[in-house]
Amino acid sequence: MASSKQVIDQTEKFSAHNYKPKEVVFASGDGVIVKNPEGEKFFDMLSAYSALNFGHKHPELIQAAKDQLDNVTLSSRAFYNNLLGEFLEKLCSMTGKTKALPMNTGAEAVETALKTARRWGNFVKGVEDGKQEIIVCSDNFHGRTLAIISMSTDPVARKGFGPFLPGFKVVEYGNLAELEAAINENTVAFLMEPIQGEAGVKCPPAGFMKKAYELCKSKNVLFIADEVQTGFARTGDMFAVQHEGFEPDIYIFGKALGGGVMPISAVVANEDILGVFTPGSHGSTFGGNPLACAVALKAMEILQRDNYPQMAKEKGEYFMSKLREIKNPKIVDVRGRGLLIGVEFNCDAAPYVKKLIAGGVLAKETHETTIRFAPPVVITKEQIDEAIEVIKKAFAE
Ligand SMILES: *Cc1c(COP(=O)(O)O)cnc(C)c1O
Repeated sequence: MASSKQVIDQTEKFSAHNYKPKEVVFASGDGVIVKNPEGEKFFDMLSAYSALNFGHKHPELIQAAKDQLDNVTLSSRAFYNNLLGEFLEKLCSMTGKTKALPMNTGAEAVETALKTARRWGNFVKGVEDGKQEIIVCSDNFHGRTLAIISMSTDPVARKGFGPFLPGFKVVEYGNLAELEAAINENTVAFLMEPIQGEAGVKCPPAGFMKKAYELCKSKNVLFIADEVQTGFARTGDMFAVQHEGFEPDIYIFGKALGGGVMPISAVVANEDILGVFTPGSHGSTFGGNPLACAVALKAMEILQRDNYPQMAKEKGEYFMSKLREIKNPKIVDVRGRGLLIGVEFNCDAAPYVKKLIAGGVLAKETHETTIRFAPPVVITKEQIDEAIEVIKKAFAE
């Protein structure tokens, strides 16, 4: 097998430099543990940004994929396949909604939600086509497409990519008064992440989401929850909006839905909203393919059967309490919910990440000063204890 150095050199030589990965090569994975080509072990504390809630190579997910590989892998939507209906019904039953639309990546699902909201605004709310406005939040992360970076406030994500798509307004994350002031008769939707993962695990003020939802209801504006990172147990609830006890009009899912095996995403809402699509108005060749559906169906079954939300809640509380015991005046905040945890420093966090990785704990800083810990939900208490020892040493003054 090629060495880590060979792999890194080759990748850097031929890859566009749109990423700057940490120098660890995944050659195999099992649960929370990954190994590099040299056989060194690491705790995966990023879980591919929550896509690996089940850990690497969950045996039932791998079996579901293997079984499906022997049946059929792709139908396109020109025809039906025997698993898509079951997949959509399961998503609807988990969310209490009546319709779902399958795509592949999170960004595609966000795009789909934006198109849904604009068309709903025109067809149902009666906003003139071309006048629809969607309100988004400062420091949002919803993906990388042109529409999505058009609503981004991150200069690095936008520079040199203009012209941008009009029709977006930005309000401060968690600021209800700004949201209220931004809504007008052309507003069709308000889009937010229940916790801003990429922005550094930022939670809105308690009660904000529900109040924002009620405000949207009163103004006939759709509330869209981007649960691509927070959905499916990560934050200690099946969906992060449940923390405030309301149901958004539109859910956006991705990442964990594919069990860390297949890319699959979806938009879920009721008929009065997703009903705006007509044949030919939207689609995806691979969206809802039977291989991804087989894995996603198994993933949703495991989430409920093994009570992943409870696992994330208990282990998250334990992990966070242990992190809070670490004494270093440069740590200014330890925050999060469930197993989506951020440790914020008052200085560049990269040197701490380097020490973590050297000790065998994989994590990455986001926005320079915050280190995100989001291990697979299957992590055991013993594994947390082991990792904490490494983290303690790395974070020591
Ligand atoms: C990762 C992410 C996306 C984009 O998903 P991709 O599969 O990378 O396109 C969108 N929204 C949120 C909140 C995310 O964390």
